[in-house]
Amino acid sequence: MADATLIDGKAMAAGLTESIKADTAVLAKHGITPGLAVVIVGEDSASQVYVRNKKRTAESCGFHSVQHSVDRNCSQDELLALIQTLNEDTQIHGILVQLPIPEHLDETTITQSILPAKDVDGFHYENIGKLTAGNLEGTFVPCTPAGCMLMIEEQLGKDLSGLDAVVIGRSNIVGKPMASLLLAANATVTVCHSRTRNLPQVARRADILVAAVGRANMVKGDWVKPGAVVIDVGINRIDVTIDGEAKSKLTGDVQFEEAARTAAAITPVPGGVGPMTIAMLMANTLRAAERTLKGG
Ligand code: NAD
Repeated sequence: MADATLIDGKAMAAGLTESIKADTAVLAKHGITPGLAVVIVGEDSASQVYVRNKKRTAESCGFHSVQHSVDRNCSQDELLALIQTLNEDTQIHGILVQLPIPEHLDETTITQSILPAKDVDGFHYENIGKLTAGNLEGTFVPCTPAGCMLMIEEQLGKDLSGLDAVVIGRSNIVGKPMASLLLAANATVTVCHSRTRNLPQVARRADILVAAVGRANMVKGDWVKPGAVVIDVGINRIDVTIDGEAKSKLTGDVQFEEAARTAAAITPVPGGVGPMTIAMLMANTLRAAERTLKGG
């Protein structure tokens, strides 16, 4: 039986979505409807699910929501032309290209072609630079680490002075921006990755442990410091047998049952970081729209 507090990402995301709806209604009085354009290239089934969820949530927030499904064989120039059109469309405030994209397309060129002011995923170098410089107000923070940070703040407050944070994973989408956010909140941050030695030992130092690797159940219970806050970003589909039937289920990077015995608080998978990621995308899109009202 788990002892840790369960950090309910689904409930937090629902609360956030409600406040975004209210702010969207206020913006409507000024004649602005936040517009989100999601571009998906090809037929990747996980991406289709993510895009559908984003569209549904955007609509429930009262946004103008547009989806562009592009053939997987499209040329880079065609995709860039579409992004250019969206960059110029005054009804669109946020643009995201669902990753991964097919290999013949250059991910960097594509993500850097989105106007920084519409880059609600926070992947443009201008926004990454601002985040790294600690200018959180002037940037769009990538949605997954932004959501993780809200969950950490809920447990520990906004000032993490004196606390040790360990982030496992150094991707541009999760690990690195997560480290920047924790640092901005005064935590002492260690970033681990596939070349890190003695990972369990390093993890055990963490008052805040964020796992963003993509390896099912990698973080064992004895990697977790007693009383730690554990944020499990991983989404892994594994095969299981239920009542003699072969099925698949989603699991995180953390061995949940074990870790929950030691941690003070932990996110579940599913129902933790995932819903918060989508809510933060809506928050970023709302902010992008609000900025046009302020003329900047
Ligand atoms: P990625 O593959 O880009 O990065 C994985 C990182 O893990 C790398 O930095 C790598 O060095 C590190 N790593 C790999 N093997 C390791 C090992 N044995 N020990 C320590 N570190 C190791 O992945 P990503 O895009 O950062 O995503 C990570 C996970 O988070 C995936 O499961 C992904 O599906 C999930 N994810 C979830 C959400 C969400 O909304 N919940 C959003 C983004 C990503």
